[in-house]
Formats: sequence, structure tokens, C-alpha cells
Amino acid sequence: MTAEAIRDTHPPSPGRRPGRGPAGLALLLAMAPFLAAAAPSGVPDKPGMPVAPDLCTAGQRATIEAAFGEAGTRLAAAIALLESAPEDAHVRRWFGGARRKLLRVNLGLIAAALRPEARPALICNPSRPCDAGNWARASTVGRSLTFCPRFFDSPAAGQDSRFGVVIHELSHIVIGTRDATYQPARSEALARDEPRVAATNADNYEYFVELLPESRPAPGSVGKPEPLPSGG
Ligand SMILES: [Zn+2]
Repeated sequence: MTAEAIRDTHPPSPGRRPGRGPAGLALLLAMAPFLAAAAPSGVPDKPGMPVAPDLCTAGQRATIEAAFGEAGTRLAAAIALLESAPEDAHVRRWFGGARRKLLRVNLGLIAAALRPEARPALICNPSRPCDAGNWARASTVGRSLTFCPRFFDSPAAGQDSRFGVVIHELSHIVIGTRDATYQPARSEALARDEPRVAATNADNYEYFVELLPESRPAPGSVGKPEPLPSGG
């Protein structure tokens, strides 16, 4: 792995373009058997009760659990699209001409990391506070995922939603993505101009899954259109 162990989900940062590099996929695959989860157990979520640093309250764990579940559902739909229609406009929008086989492998690795037994350690209320504006941060060496207050304030679905943040951060941990650029417009430009880089950029994976056109409402999602009234 590189020396840069911590990758954060940042707000937009124009002009920030860290170096590129291969995803280190072979190494990660080789390490996979040793990457067992070691999540700290939850603590009661009682009003006024102090929370030990790094531990998640029961309420926080429930929110995280829901985000992992939603990420799994949406990621499965995104993989299905990639397999059934690899040149679909949505695939091209986020990955341009990047190799479809590579994308399929990478998305599969993220999906595998969503399984309860494969998850990184989950940290809330970190003793090292989150940087302002961050949703979460991933440690690729410690293989932990820290959730910041902004994550819990984010919506369950839509752009920069909780499940999308989970996809973004897990992509750092399991496929070694970078933050070459952030936010939809710049991620789309990356897909168009440098698809090989887009295939290594965390936000491209996040938005590919997060903004996947829905053919049917996902369980628990909000803001879906009401059925048309009869005669309307
Ligand atoms: Zn990131």
C-alpha cells in the first residue's frame, strides 16, 4: 500500500488532483483472507449517556446498518446494469470507455465488503475529530471506516446520501480508489476525458451507484412520485 493510509470524503475541492496509481487489486485479493472484520460492539443509546470515543451508539449503528443494506441493494442493481448493458448511457456517464471487466471486478469487491462478516471496523464519535465538511474517512491500513456527524445528517437516498458515502469509502479500502476529483460535474468530466482515471476515482463509483436511474422504488426510500390520480 502507499504511505497515504487515510482517505476522506471531502467537500468539493477544485484543483485537487493527487497522483494516480493502480488499484493494487492483486495485493488486496491476496490479503482478503486475512482481512477479518473487527467491529467494536455497540453501546446503549440513552439520552445524556456519555459515549466512549470511537464506539457507535445503538442509534448510529442502526443508521449505518440501513446504509449498508441500501448500498447492497443499489450496488446489485448497478452491477446488473453493467452486465446487461455495458454501453448504457449511465455506464458511459460515470466511466466513459474504462474497461468493463475491471469495473465489474471492482464493483464485485465493494459488494463483497458490504457483507457483515467482511466489513471494516466501524468507528463513530472518533477521538480524532473529523475535518469540517467530511462525511466519513477510511483507513486502508487499519481497515476502518469512521463516520462523521455529517454522515448522520445526510439523506438516505439521492446525491451524497448515506449509502453512497458507504460505497465511496469502501472503494478506498477494498479497491484502493483515490480522490482524483470530487462531485458529479468533475467526475463526469473525468469519465469523458480520462476514463482510466475515472475507474480509480471513488466519487465515480459513488455516483454510478447513487444516481442509478431507478426502474422501481427501493425499499425504505423516500421522495418517490405518487401514483397519478385517476383521470389525470
Ligand atoms: Zn474519498
